[in-house]
Amino acid sequence: MFEILFLGTSASAPSANRGLAGQIVSHNEYRFLIDCGEGTQRQILQSGIGFKRITRILVTHGHLDHILGLGGLLSTLLRWEAIDELEIFGGRATLERVRTLLYDVVLRGNQPPMPLKLTEIKPGLIFEADDFTVTAFPVTHRGPDCLGFVFEEKARRPFLASKADELGVPFGPERRDLVAGKEITLPDGKRISPEEVLGEWEKGSKLVVVGDAGRTDNLIEVSKDADALVIESTYLDEEADMAKKYSHLTARMGAELAVKAGVKKLILTHISRRYRGKDVLAEAQPIFSNTVVARDFDNFQIKREI
Ligand SMILES: [Zn+2]
Ligand SMILES: [Zn+2]
Repeated sequence: MFEILFLGTSASAPSANRGLAGQIVSHNEYRFLIDCGEGTQRQILQSGIGFKRITRILVTHGHLDHILGLGGLLSTLLRWEAIDELEIFGGRATLERVRTLLYDVVLRGNQPPMPLKLTEIKPGLIFEADDFTVTAFPVTHRGPDCLGFVFEEKARRPFLASKADELGVPFGPERRDLVAGKEITLPDGKRISPEEVLGEWEKGSKLVVVGDAGRTDNLIEVSKDADALVIESTYLDEEADMAKKYSHLTARMGAELAVKAGVKKLILTHISRRYRGKDVLAEAQPIFSNTVVARDFDNFQIKREI
């Protein structure tokens, strides 16, 4: 299961109710901050999630409404050293701008308060833990090196406790070994192989997060069967020409992508100040019914629906 907490859901400029882009994706003890618009650190404080474990920041692209908060965040860390290390992932052009902001504006020759790593990434696997992966994929938007991210749990085979009971497997390390794929021998000499107590492979949950985007036809494949798709919705259909001009999406385009990719849930964000959330929802929901328009501090649990 993944969790996604929206820290900011506004496009380009903040509104009275919406901060600028920032989301935290959590999986067990792991936390990833995706984008860090101006004001993100205050949103982190207000959400109560805290800074401590936010050591990895994934940046979708280098537009100011997605990166300016990095300056303030680092400035705070300079004084309070709240975290042990910080790694910022982004495409080349994105990192160039982030580097200027952090090293030329904030640090100006001073050392960062903790190990600070700017890691250039390209489409492909960017992070792997025991039971999940994070993969970057290309997104078309204004400027080069824009990326989206897929969070996916690895497929697993469930432990069939009733089978184990039948076979007389005791509770304890024997069961742990079987789950880990090791054969065990019972006290009476009977051998039990993992095959006997593990069920069919089950896919893990999949969360796809797209930042700003101007096209969706190249996002269908990567979004396929996602349990949730998070994507921008800067415009409504009535301003489709503006969306095209600035390389953004309309609510309709996001909803149509959700249909084509067969996702389970659509979460729209990056909402313009000119619209109300309910207007965005009214456009998307008739096309894809399981749509929500995210508000600041909304938190969603993304589980594999069976
Ligand atoms: Zn933006
Ligand atoms: Zn942008």
